Amino acid sequence: MQNITIYCFRNDLRLFDNPAFLKASLESDVLLPLFCHPNNHLIVKDTQRVGIHRQAFLRQALNQLKANLKSLNSDLLEVKGNICEHVKKISDEIGATKIIFEKIIAPEELDQEISIRNIGISVETFWQSSMIEPTHLPFDLKNMPDIFTDFRKLTEAKKIIINSPTPPPEKLPPLPDINIDLNSNINFDSSMKYKHSSFPYLENQFYGGEDNALAHLESYLVKKLPHTYKETRNQLYGVNFSTKFSPWLSLGSISARYIAFRIKEFENQYGANESTYWIWFELLWRDYFRFIHFKFGKKLYSQNGLSNNNNLVSHSDENFNKWIKGETGNELIDAGMRELRFTGYLSNRMRQIVASYLIYDLGCDWRKGALWFESQLIDYDVYSNQGNWLYIAGLGTDPRGGRKFNTKKQNLEYDPNNTYKKMWLN
Ligand SMILES: Cc1cc2nc3c(=O)[nH]c(=O)nc-3n(C[C@H](O)[C@H](O)[C@H](O)COP(=O)(O)OP(=O)(O)OC[C@H]3O[C@@H](n4cnc5c(N)ncnc54)[C@H](O)[C@@H]3O)c2cc1C
Repeated sequence: MQNITIYCFRNDLRLFDNPAFLKASLESDVLLPLFCHPNNHLIVKDTQRVGIHRQAFLRQALNQLKANLKSLNSDLLEVKGNICEHVKKISDEIGATKIIFEKIIAPEELDQEISIRNIGISVETFWQSSMIEPTHLPFDLKNMPDIFTDFRKLTEAKKIIINSPTPPPEKLPPLPDINIDLNSNINFDSSMKYKHSSFPYLENQFYGGEDNALAHLESYLVKKLPHTYKETRNQLYGVNFSTKFSPWLSLGSISARYIAFRIKEFENQYGANESTYWIWFELLWRDYFRFIHFKFGKKLYSQNGLSNNNNLVSHSDENFNKWIKGETGNELIDAGMRELRFTGYLSNRMRQIVASYLIYDLGCDWRKGALWFESQLIDYDVYSNQGNWLYIAGLGTDPRGGRKFNTKKQNLEYDPNNTYKKMWLN
């Protein structure tokens, strides 16, 4: 009997260092690469859950994936809507015996997995989005330390060697022999035209997709920017102040493991310093927000997060609408919220400041803020977004409670000449 497999790409839109896809390619007689776009509903008037910037960046990434698959005589089928219904229909049509995809342990994605398992087709999932393999950690994930610093110290003490990247498939099995329209791309328009964008994804260099992700990493290393990362990472604008890996990481156009692997090689060649270490440190935060999902699961999505406090979270729609439009009257906040809406990117510092302002100054529900970020950010990542919002709201694992930022102080420290504010308010 032929082994006919569907490989469903999720946030792993790459061929290089994609062990799950490599396995599918080696073990299948016939292989159908698939990507399912979610139904994109409105979250507030005029704004969809996957906003225009992420749609455009995703389109670029899918175009590149499709081209790379085609160069190996395969292709990518794109569908939109209920993944379970699509998988059922397609597997019946092509006689698929198996579906393989990367594991995502956020609630909606887990529900999808359960419903696909109920179709009756054999399902294989692979965890492959962290820098560190969970099995290499010195503890079981269900018993991992709650606090980041404890997690980091134990992890660092083990001196974990990051897995070497896996090669891309040399060739791919044929596509199923049926009439599927592989050209029904889901198209989007983008309206990003802001010259001040810190991640100008309409310029070649910042396009979505695997080839650009790999090229960006190499260019970051060639410019020796890892040596100054720690000094510049808190700046508010520019294309080089931080690594800008996150948009490609979020769609899996590049793996965190490969970035860490290349940074280690850079250190071996040009020397390690506090800055090169700090890139690892930040990627470890990314892993940490993933791993706490294994321990706390859906609790991380409830209004009170991990706290035992059952008070209702307050919310004002009026204030929330001012915040999303950048019309709160606080210039730093308004500049940040406009940058986010106009470009789909915001520095880490500004993300912290605007999130704190929404929660503590405007008295709004942090989950609404998280949903707004989800729709706007080109680098939206379910684990990092949820984890950081919980952290600012003081409802996550941080023992020090929430993080309230004083906007006047932040303004003086990070935008003393008001250059950033002028960029977005004029
Ligand atoms: C409220 C809030 C929401 C956020 N939502 C997201 C999100 O949806 N997606 C996302 O990728 N990041 C999110 N972050 C984390 C962080 O702001 C971005 O990862 C970072 O700004 C991306 O730019 P960069 O790649 O240049 O980061 P760099 O500073 O160069 O960091 C290198 C990499 O480390 C990781 N990293 C850095 N800071 C964090 C952090 N605080 N938490 C987790 N990982 C981190 C990212 O993968 C990043 O690409 C959020 C932060 C806040 C405060």
